Formats: sequence, structure tokens, C-alpha cells
Amino acid sequence: MALVVQKYGGSSVSDARSIKRVAKRIAEAKRAGNDVVVVVSAMGDTTDELLELADEISPKPPQREMDILLTAGERISMSLLAMAIDKLGVKAKSFTGQQAGLLTDAVHGKARIVDVVPHRIRQTLSKGQVAIVAGFQGVSTSNDVTTLGRGGSDTTAVALAAGLDADVCEIYTDVDGIFSADPRIVPGARKIDKVTYEEMLELAASGAKVLALRAVEYARRYDVPVHVRSSFSGKTGTLVTGTHGDLIDPNASTGDQEEAMEDPIISGVAHDSSEAKITVVGVPDTLGQAARIFEVVAGAGANIDMIVQNVSVAATGRTDISFTLPHGDVRSTVAALNAVKSELKFDELQIDDEIGKVSLVGAGMKSHPGISARLFGALRDAGINIEMISTSEIRISVVTRADSLDDAVRAIHTAFGLDSSEGEAVVYAGTGR
Ligand code: ADP
Ligand code: ASP
Ligand code: MG
Repeated sequence: MALVVQKYGGSSVSDARSIKRVAKRIAEAKRAGNDVVVVVSAMGDTTDELLELADEISPKPPQREMDILLTAGERISMSLLAMAIDKLGVKAKSFTGQQAGLLTDAVHGKARIVDVVPHRIRQTLSKGQVAIVAGFQGVSTSNDVTTLGRGGSDTTAVALAAGLDADVCEIYTDVDGIFSADPRIVPGARKIDKVTYEEMLELAASGAKVLALRAVEYARRYDVPVHVRSSFSGKTGTLVTGTHGDLIDPNASTGDQEEAMEDPIISGVAHDSSEAKITVVGVPDTLGQAARIFEVVAGAGANIDMIVQNVSVAATGRTDISFTLPHGDVRSTVAALNAVKSELKFDELQIDDEIGKVSLVGAGMKSHPGISARLFGALRDAGINIEMISTSEIRISVVTRADSLDDAVRAIHTAFGLDSSEGEAVVYAGTGR
């Protein structure tokens, strides 16, 4: 008997029929003799709709109220799912994040889990019942309801799996696993059978939203094996674990090392259209300016991604500094920088909302020269201009115009020979929002 944590994303529970379908799957897992804990997201695009609704009321609503509002989405799906399972003759109980013991810090909108105390979940399991937990939410040390940031139900699932010492955390979604690129953009993307935490961290950090970044960080820290798969098919998905070699096939005679020799150079192409670019124009090129700018930016709570500083113009001794950050952080960052404009003595701020970022990720890249040249060549051949570049040992990212992003993803995918020969990847549901 195994203890399994299953997480169902919004597109897997978008209407009553889907909820009944998922309930059947859960009941089967329970009847097969497993202890089953289910984490569920809000139905379909409910979270986006609630965000839009709040925006109609106020452009800057109190964060505490936003969290209360957004957590309502998961309450709806968790209770409906419990009813659907109960109807199939299997006992199930639903719990909010607070009831399930997900304790977080008090940072509304992107709270971090500080402890998991799942007494009630354990009790429920010991009675032979299925426990359903609302994803994406917890309760803060000051007893307020919090949310964990977009995609946070993945994090709830992994945290519960770690806290309950589960055998596996299954992430059920609307595609058959993790692919070499988003199958919504690249129909010829290939399914990846196994990927390491490190590679998945880079993919998620680069925008592959199939798994939330925090969830991967958590899984790596607590060594939770994660299986990403479709709730619409019975296919085996993608295993995310510590190594390429320690995975499902218990009969395989090959050890880690032999398997590692077959590791692909590239694990995938990720894209991200959730960022904007701010350029601080005409910054005096003197000691400590960058430090001061980014202190101010950090003070505004922005998560900076890429940074480029140009060579200063000799005649003026001034330079431009550009950086990318999530769209949602632009307003507060611009306000914070403008507030210190006279102290920092820059000329102006330019804001560019129309950028996209494409990243090539793979642990094998570090030992293979010529990868950047091939990537840049692919974009040139596709007529796509590169605006910013950043690299790490296992990733190359470039910023393009937002409207060339999809073409850039496809061009790079093809240039690195990633296109599948096995037909098109299936996208079962969802709106890609
Ligand atoms: P859920 O509602 O189940 O949480 P998400 O929309 O958050 O689902 O994540 C699944 C989506 O992630 C897929 O439908 C796909 O469009 C997108 N995606 C982006 N990159 C990848 C990738 N490399 N592999 C698979 N899916 C990806
Ligand atoms: N419902 C939340 C969101 O849309 C959490 C999740 O689905 O993971 O971001
Ligand atoms: Mg998700």
C-alpha cells in the first residue's frame, strides 16, 4: 500500500463532468489500496476571473482581501470533488489550506510555507477516507488566509507529499507530461520521460508553467519524486527526481552512471511572456550606481530577472541600465525609481511591455561548445532580432519582441533537433491562460 498525493489542475476540473471524471480516477486509486490525498485547483480559469472582477472594483485592492477572494476558488472545487467521490461510494472529506495545516509567512499573494502540520489529513487517512485539500492557500502566523502565488497548488501538493512522507506526488494536468517545449506552441514537442530537479528548476524559472517553480524547489529540498501526467489519459508522464538514473524501471540493470551518459544535451525550450523591461536612461557611470538602483528596485518588492548595462558613452560619462521583471511589479518599481530620480540623476525611465523571453535549457550544454552560436543562428534565419541575452551553465535566454516569441520557440526547437517524429503532442483541455 502506498501513500499518494494527487494534484488536479484547474483544466482537469473545469466543469461538473470533469469533476466526476477526476473523482472516478481518485476512487480507483483508493480502491486499489492506496492512501490518497488530493490537492485541487480552482475550476478552469476561475482565479483569473476573480482577479478581473477585483480589478473592476479597485486597481489596488488590499492584499489581505485579495487572498480571501482568491482562496474561494479552491473551496468550490474541493467541496464539489468531495461530493463527487462520496457519490461513488468512497468516503472523502475536503479541507481548506488552514485546516490541512499549511502554515505560511504573512506575505499576501506570494506567501512561503513555513511548516506543514497535517494532523487532520493523517486522521482522515487513518479512517480509510480520501482527504481533499484546497491548493494554493495556507494560513499565516498572524492567522490570516494567504495564497502561495500563481500555480501554487503544485507547491501545496509537493509540501503535503513531503510532510506526509508520501511515496509519490502526482501532478495531473492537461498534457501528457513535461515536453521539450509547450505543446500549445510546438505541436511537434517531445515528451520527456525523466528530468532532474535542476533541469526542471531552470525550465520552470524560464517560464514553463507546467510545474510551479516553488514546487520544484520544494521537491528538490525534500527529495519528493514528482510524476507529471495527464488526467485525461492513462499514459505514464514525466518523472522529476534527483537524477536521471534512479527512476521507475526497477528492473533496469543500468546504474546511474551509464544512464547519465545517455543524458540529452538539451532538455527543452521554455518561453515567458509575463515580463516587461525597464530601462533607466542616462545613469551617471559612477561607483555604486547599480547597487543603489537595485536597492530601490528590491525595496519595491520586484523580482528582477535579466540585467544589461551598456558601455557608457565617453562624451557624457552616462550609461543605460535595462532589466526585466514581472508585469505585475512594474507599477511599484517605476514609482520607487521615480521617487529617487534626483538622487540617482538619471534622465528617464522607459517601459517596454511588449517583450518575450525564450530559453534553451539542458545540463549537457556546459560541455558542448557552439550552442549559443546555433541558437543565435536559428533566430537570425527566422528573422528574429535579439534584444537581451543571459546565460548560465545550463541555460541560454534571449529577449525578443513579444509577437515573435512563438516563432522563436519553434525555430530554436527545430534547430536543436527536438522536433518529434512520433506525431503531434496532445493538448487535452485548458485555455493556456
Ligand atoms: P494546470 O491547470 O493543470 O495547473 P497549467 O496550465 O498550470 O495546468 O500547466 C499546464 C500547461 O503548461 C500545459 O497546458 C502547457 O500549455 C504548459 N506548458 C508550458 N511549457 C510546457 C512544457 N515544457 N511541457 C508541458 N506543458 C507545458
Ligand atoms: N488557482 C491558482 C492559480 O490559478 C492556483 C493553481 O491553479 O495552482 O494560479
Ligand atoms: Mg498549474
